[in-house]
Amino acid sequence: MSDTERHAVLPESRDTPCPGRPVLERIETRAAEVGELPIHRALPSRRRRTVGAWCFLDHIGPIEHPAGHGLHVGPHPHIGLQTFTWMIEGEITHRDSLGYTQPIRPGEVNLMTAGDGIAHSEDTASQDRGRLHAVQLWIALPEAQRRRAPTFQHYPDLPAMSDGGFRLTVLAGSHLGRRAPAEIHSPLVGLDLAAGGAACMDLALEPHFEHAVLVLNGEVRVACEALGPDTLVYLGTGRRHLRLECCAASRLMLIGGEPFGEEILLWWNFVARHPAEIEEASRAWNERRHFGEVEGSPSPRLAAPDGTGLRLRGALE
Ligand code: MN
Repeated sequence: MSDTERHAVLPESRDTPCPGRPVLERIETRAAEVGELPIHRALPSRRRRTVGAWCFLDHIGPIEHPAGHGLHVGPHPHIGLQTFTWMIEGEITHRDSLGYTQPIRPGEVNLMTAGDGIAHSEDTASQDRGRLHAVQLWIALPEAQRRRAPTFQHYPDLPAMSDGGFRLTVLAGSHLGRRAPAEIHSPLVGLDLAAGGAACMDLALEPHFEHAVLVLNGEVRVACEALGPDTLVYLGTGRRHLRLECCAASRLMLIGGEPFGEEILLWWNFVARHPAEIEEASRAWNERRHFGEVEGSPSPRLAAPDGTGLRLRGALE
């Protein structure tokens, strides 16, 4: 996906200080657009920029889109992060500047490690009308990894288990000894939990991780708090278990990780540490340097927005 918001989320918008204990903090997602599609953006927000190394969370759909009006995000660049796409309904084709063309279907993960720089596009695979439901997250790369060479991986098979009426899929990291295949560079976890009807379980958590939950559809009681779609609930650290209950078909995502100890600068599709890095990446992309080209996308190439404001804000820091 591509962040079409032009404001910067700068280091001064600090997270609520990590309390080092369980909390239950509701953070409303905000409406944004990806291509033509309305989506809900849970991270970053003014109140919380990261949960572990997870630094961006878009919930797309579930939506029934008319013919020709699915997800269409033309070629755009990334640096300093991994894009992590979890497909629930529909099909998207990923194309990138390394030459990969990879459809992603329900139950599959695409992981693109931008590192030093990559470009990609994402388009609904068919021009037909259809349903789309997906989550795209970004993972900030730690200092030692953020300039690595770009890579792309597709994971069609993920570990899954059932408990108390929930079907649990391990998207990233591990859960009860089952490890997801995605190659990540910080201690973190991502789980999808889906129930076809009434369900109840105590989900085991890593107590030194901070966690957050986002309901994707239905209604779930999370630690006795009723939660509908598109409110992110930040849970803090120090929890060993989380009670999840629902009365009807519901789905949620849990993300977590060791609190990310580095200050990041997130602007457009870039994660960096200094404004000069962002400016250089924007300039390189607009001058068709460094990132390579994406072949075959039906969608137009996106231009990096003007970063002048970033320079001014950066100069004040
Ligand atoms: Mn993208």
